[in-house]
Amino acid sequence: MELLLDMKTIFIILFVGHVFSLILISAYWREHKKDQILNYFFVAKCLQAIAWIFLTLRGGIPDVFTISLANTALFLGLSFETMALLKLRQAFTNKIKKFYLFITIFNIAGFHMIILMHNVESFRVAFASIMSAVVIIIPAYRFITERKSSLLSKMMGYLYLLVILSLTSRGVAALITNQTMGLFTPGLIQSFSFLTLFLVMFLGNMGFIFLLKEKTDEELVRIASYDDLTNTLNRRTFIERATQIIYECKKQKKPVSFLLFDIDFFKKINDKNGHDIGDKVLIDLSERIHQELRSNDLFGRYGGDEFAILLPEMEEGESTDFAERIRKEIEVAKFTGLPLNYTLSFGVVTVIPEENTNIDSLYVTCDKALYLAKQRGRNCVCRISCEAKKNA
Ligand code: GH3
Ligand code: MG
Repeated sequence: MELLLDMKTIFIILFVGHVFSLILISAYWREHKKDQILNYFFVAKCLQAIAWIFLTLRGGIPDVFTISLANTALFLGLSFETMALLKLRQAFTNKIKKFYLFITIFNIAGFHMIILMHNVESFRVAFASIMSAVVIIIPAYRFITERKSSLLSKMMGYLYLLVILSLTSRGVAALITNQTMGLFTPGLIQSFSFLTLFLVMFLGNMGFIFLLKEKTDEELVRIASYDDLTNTLNRRTFIERATQIIYECKKQKKPVSFLLFDIDFFKKINDKNGHDIGDKVLIDLSERIHQELRSNDLFGRYGGDEFAILLPEMEEGESTDFAERIRKEIEVAKFTGLPLNYTLSFGVVTVIPEENTNIDSLYVTCDKALYLAKQRGRNCVCRISCEAKKNA
């Protein structure tokens, strides 16, 4: 069976595909004109639609449109699309930006050098195919190898790899086979290459939309999970994640420590210095504490000036030392730019979780310890066993 596709039909399909993508994206783009990622993608689709209509008209309109302009638009469009994808994955560094500037200029200039010096179609096909493959090497590599890549990104990476292989084989075939390999010359490799181009279009559009959605979802989850002032977990997320950790410790019969702490006389700080300085104190506190945490510790804001830390697999003595260390650090810390000091009171509890242990029971117990710490004069660490320590 011979798989010979009519190239003009394929070009028209590619053109129509890009035009419809443009129509759909433009509706979304109108509301998000300030989003650079979308702008890049929108420009890419415009350029690609122009390129494919010019290529479809080869023979009917002057070559300057169907060869020179069409390929310039294709190179530019592919670069813009790739940059949009990399921006979306937050992988668009300054180095990569310079690379794309260089490779795009190189591609356009190189292609025109071929037109001027050795205008043979198979040469142009080889150059355009191989250099297009080079343009998409970076997203393919990043999507496949990045550790935090989602399954969707990895799949896109492998599909891009397939496209790279197909474009490269088309380029090499154009150079080594004797037969002329023009845009409209039918052949198996040619058909396969243009099916690959169709895949690029499909992959580019669908993948971009899915990745955009994935990014928006990640942002929404982040907004819903964190307290935006202090960048600590909000109460709901803290409880959710703590429940999971307590369950794991229960299964493995390992200890877990829970710390509840609160800024001393925070109302006075607000009243004396203003609410905005109060906010800065909260930010300062959470930044300092973040530096003390291990990767699997939980840190959340329970409300107002009350915070909680859950320390999995941490024994009684170790967690008391941990709380004391933070208490002392805050006591002596200089609050940048202001003649202001603040102190913390801690309630601490450590348990090897039993059947009925949960985050609520730990909170209730620890709250009593914190109450004791306040009663004992503040700026101290108190366990519910009443083994309070105070270093005045
Ligand atoms: P204590 O030593 O007993 O804890 O005394 P306190 O003055 O700190 O009392 P409390 O912890 O009850 O005070 C909490 C105060 O925190 C009351 C509220 O005005 C203030 N507050 C709550 N949320 C915020 C916030 O987001 N920013 C600022 N600046 N203040 C807040
Ligand atoms: Mg307080």
